[in-house]
Amino acid sequence: MIVVQIGRLAEQLGVHRNTIRNWIRSGRLPARRVPGKRYLVDEEEFIKLCHAYGLDASALQFRRVSAASQAASEPEEDWEGQTVLSPRAHAFPLSAFGADVCLTCGSCAGACPISGVDDWDPRKIVRMAVLGMEEDLVSASWPWKCTLCGKCEQACPMGVDITGLMTAVRRARDRDHVPGPLHKGVLTMLETGNNLGIPREDFVACCEAVARELAEEECPGFRVPLDVKGARLLVTVNSKEPFAEPRQMKHWWKIFYAAGESWTIPTENWDGVQWGAYTGDEEAVRLGVGRMVEAMERLQCHALLLPECGHAYHAVRMGLGRWYAEESRRFEVVSLFDLLKDYIQRGRIRLRERPFAVTATYHDPCHVTRKSLKAFGKAYDEEAREIVRRCCADFVEMIPNREDAFCCGAGGGLAALPYHEERVFHGRHKARQIRRTGASLVVTSCHNCRDQILKSLRKEYDLSVEVKLLWELVAEALIGPSRAQGEVWG
Ligand code: SF4
Ligand code: SF4
Repeated sequence: MIVVQIGRLAEQLGVHRNTIRNWIRSGRLPARRVPGKRYLVDEEEFIKLCHAYGLDASALQFRRVSAASQAASEPEEDWEGQTVLSPRAHAFPLSAFGADVCLTCGSCAGACPISGVDDWDPRKIVRMAVLGMEEDLVSASWPWKCTLCGKCEQACPMGVDITGLMTAVRRARDRDHVPGPLHKGVLTMLETGNNLGIPREDFVACCEAVARELAEEECPGFRVPLDVKGARLLVTVNSKEPFAEPRQMKHWWKIFYAAGESWTIPTENWDGVQWGAYTGDEEAVRLGVGRMVEAMERLQCHALLLPECGHAYHAVRMGLGRWYAEESRRFEVVSLFDLLKDYIQRGRIRLRERPFAVTATYHDPCHVTRKSLKAFGKAYDEEAREIVRRCCADFVEMIPNREDAFCCGAGGGLAALPYHEERVFHGRHKARQIRRTGASLVVTSCHNCRDQILKSLRKEYDLSVEVKLLWELVAEALIGPSRAQGEVWG
């Protein structure tokens, strides 16, 4: 027999704790409860169940107890009223986040833009986890008001993985109590292939209508290449675009047309966004990213382009590295920065010289700078600046910037959560920075950041600035598109 603890086992297997609870409740995993919120489980049955669900249990280590001691152990109800001296059970594996080496210095709290909201801050979160106050943590709303921006852990001298811990706290919340529409979006994504539940035929009709417009306006003969086998580039989409701003898709399409790119969009599972990363639902992220891998293989594409969404870029690359390391070696994973840089350097697209007679600044999305540097060893900061400098008459930096930049306030799923006031409060540093530059144009490369600045910060902090995504800036600065119909690069 082995001794397991639900939270820890769920963490090790990368499934939600409710999955383990359901296995036990339904009898699929025969288990008997023992003191310390632990269960005695038949090892053979457990391994069989893991095989049945495709989970790898080979590397897990358990405390084993003999049949004799098992017979001697009492069910939990018989222990009621007794003092049991045993180590405190932690739902969050502290050593995995480095929380057990916290010095209580408070640097994280000093760096966090929402320290003090509800009288909480990241140090408090770490201390509560260390002290085993899991229930208070899991029921609190503060971990959902955090944007997972990573400013706190950047300041931490001990390298505590505070955003990892915050995500684990979110993961431990019963799914019925995940705030806002996030969990519904995850379920919808699993059922329909995109988190807004856009049916395949509507998505196709939307793409074709936008393509017709683009062909009439600027790109003669343009047709949107859906499900094209053997295309070089498989393009994933941010579901916000077909849902709310379909014309945004034209920017990329226009750039592809000008570059003579061989590309395609899958008509199923095209959503690049993984809300499971916001709710801590690792299984949903694994399935979502797996579908992208499947689309890459089915359509035999050579490179996967992640959408202009910092969260999607970070979540998908993390998912590929964690669960599909071998499969993803068979194709290239491309960020929008890599692609635009390549197009410009190789002369596949040409830009007009400073067509925007304005002073511009650039907002660094956390996911592609600070968090990308931490996760993948690469911050995308210079690529975008080079393009903005090339397109605009003048360029002014916000201070601090790049991997030290302030979050806009809308990350971590906050854009979709019912915490408007906190989101606006978080964005106050960004609003102040923008005002200080004197710029009239803010360029960024993440949908969430763009929407937060354009739709919230402008109004709440009375900023008179225009906001553009990077691809929008490039599409508007293009010379052409002049490529002959159907002509493909190389
Ligand atoms: S990730 Fe950002 S918002 Fe969350 S605790 Fe850290 S600094 Fe604060
Ligand atoms: S900065 Fe790091 S060491 Fe200091 S209190 Fe925060 S988590 Fe602990």
